[in-house]
Amino acid sequence: MSRIFSGIQPSGELHLGNYLGAVRNWVRLQHQHPTIVCIVDYHAITVQYDPEQLRVRRRDMALSLLAAGIDPNVGTLFVQSTVPEHTELAWIFNTVAPLGELERQTQFKEKSQRQESVSAGLLTYPVLQAADILLYHADLVPVGEDQVQHLELSRVIARRWNAHFGAGDDYFPEPKPLLTHTPRIMGLDGQAKMSKSIGNTVSLLESSEQIWEKLRPAVTDPKRVKRTDPGTPEVCNIYHLHKAFSAPATVEHVAEQCSTAGWGCLDCKRVLHGTMMEELVPIQARAKVLSAKPSLISDALAAGTEKCKTIARETMKTVREKMGIA
Ligand code: SF4
Repeated sequence: MSRIFSGIQPSGELHLGNYLGAVRNWVRLQHQHPTIVCIVDYHAITVQYDPEQLRVRRRDMALSLLAAGIDPNVGTLFVQSTVPEHTELAWIFNTVAPLGELERQTQFKEKSQRQESVSAGLLTYPVLQAADILLYHADLVPVGEDQVQHLELSRVIARRWNAHFGAGDDYFPEPKPLLTHTPRIMGLDGQAKMSKSIGNTVSLLESSEQIWEKLRPAVTDPKRVKRTDPGTPEVCNIYHLHKAFSAPATVEHVAEQCSTAGWGCLDCKRVLHGTMMEELVPIQARAKVLSAKPSLISDALAAGTEKCKTIARETMKTVREKMGIA
């Protein structure tokens, strides 16, 4: 059966954007495939960061993932730096990764423009990503469209390594993207994708009141100036959030009420707030339990590390043998 690998940056508490865009899908997939979820702290240090904050954010991310439904008895959750084989394999892959393709990566070009000083780590980020995936022979990677280019590079690296050292054997599989069909969730300012760095997020763990305070003034269809103006649901972020959280009959009702000016945007948001909290309340309850008993988090991570180390050691033993460095 195909193994799934997914990585997430230790950015602290999950927000609605990364929950709907990725994590909710992983929670479902863990029941269909062997699934590894990795908090990629070595990726997070490719740009400037605060070490103390990194520690806190890694912990908060683990708590959020477990609360959101990643079940350590079903899937595997661990922190990247606790399995040192990731960096060993990344170094090895650096020796076969094509420099020109690394330099052409769109994310590298975008991120490097925002940095005063660009590290080699930022350039070779996708090589570490290839190591993350291939260390576990994962053959399916749930990704959004913006990650397909990185995954293509993992495929190139697997092919090149197999050609050099596989001795006619495709030791590393070429991982395939499992495209996540989720709408692009915009921030509540309606300006850009929901992102912590922009500050337009809603955390999964915010209280019902805090979420309503953010939802109430959220941007909607700009053509609905007056309550009597009919709207176009498809252009409205609130409608897309309804599609993510509300039942199909409610989504239909929203579209009808919006396009006929049957209700105002506040009515629409109140319904969304209700359906959203139905999903978030159990997540928040689990988060409370985890906060009260942090050993549940450290035990889950330790079990994940042990499982991953067993696979990673086996992979590296074979890699070293095939490369003549054992
Ligand atoms: S009624 Fe709802 S979907 Fe229509 S513009 Fe207002 S908030 Fe958006």
